[in-house]
Amino acid sequence: MRWEGGRESENVEDRRGESGGFTRGGFGGRLGGGGIPIGRGGLGIGGLAILLVVSLLLGVNPLDLIEGNAPQQQDQRYEQSQAPRSGADDELKRFVSVVLADTEDVWQAQFQQMGRTYQDPKLVLFSGVVDSGCGTAQSAMGPFYCPLDQKLYIDLSFYRDLRDRFRAPGDFAQAYVIAHEVGHHVQNLLGISDRVQQAQQSAGNRADANALSVRLELQADCLAGVWANQANRQKQIIEPGDVDEALNAASAIGDDRLQKQSRGTVTPDSFTHGSSAQRVRWFRTGFDSGQMRSCDTFAAERL
Ligand SMILES: [Zn+2]
Repeated sequence: MRWEGGRESENVEDRRGESGGFTRGGFGGRLGGGGIPIGRGGLGIGGLAILLVVSLLLGVNPLDLIEGNAPQQQDQRYEQSQAPRSGADDELKRFVSVVLADTEDVWQAQFQQMGRTYQDPKLVLFSGVVDSGCGTAQSAMGPFYCPLDQKLYIDLSFYRDLRDRFRAPGDFAQAYVIAHEVGHHVQNLLGISDRVQQAQQSAGNRADANALSVRLELQADCLAGVWANQANRQKQIIEPGDVDEALNAASAIGDDRLQKQSRGTVTPDSFTHGSSAQRVRWFRTGFDSGQMRSCDTFAAERL
């Protein structure tokens, strides 16, 4: 990806090295004015509602994190991420700032075409744990977007995981991660996230709520593709191999691939983000068309 020398967004909040409220209970620990007990089975309904409106990149089951069942690895990562920052980290910060600026330019233009005004989201960099408008979150959950404070959250150590654990290296894979979360911000501004949340609440069963989540997530992938297309039109950012990097990343974090890796079996009803093939297909759909209207995953018969 060609990004060196590009404009850096001013909407990056660097909270690395600050200690968030690191509670073993994890997400939800500080919600609702401290009124929500966390421990096993004790999460209040408010906490669950908020978990649903947080859009994660990965199909991590938030309940695993709430109940303290998350893998051991997390604690190690927490320590690692407290290590002094290197020049490489600063370069990564510049990189994400440029990508965020590229998303601002693209979405401002797209919203203008619709006669609307785009409000830039903030991007919060954190290490280990962070207090967000949606509660306390750990890096193990992966990058996420909180609609309540309109901020994207990422622990940059996730990019190491993306390269090593998910085998999805490359700067355009990294850009896709940001573009996907910004896609959730676009959905939030357009009122799509709210409508989905309401439909989920009236769905009555987990499988239907999950199916809606999959459509929302695949739409965010499609919007990431629209961004890649439009950013390339504006600034010729794409180099040979970049699109394959993004498609490979989309595939690497498909629910089927992640479930197979972690449990050895695949349960489609529990998908919240879509299969590898679906994630690839929707990023590609957005990328090939460059048009938001191609991203109507809610009307699509075949995902
Ligand atoms: Zn997402």
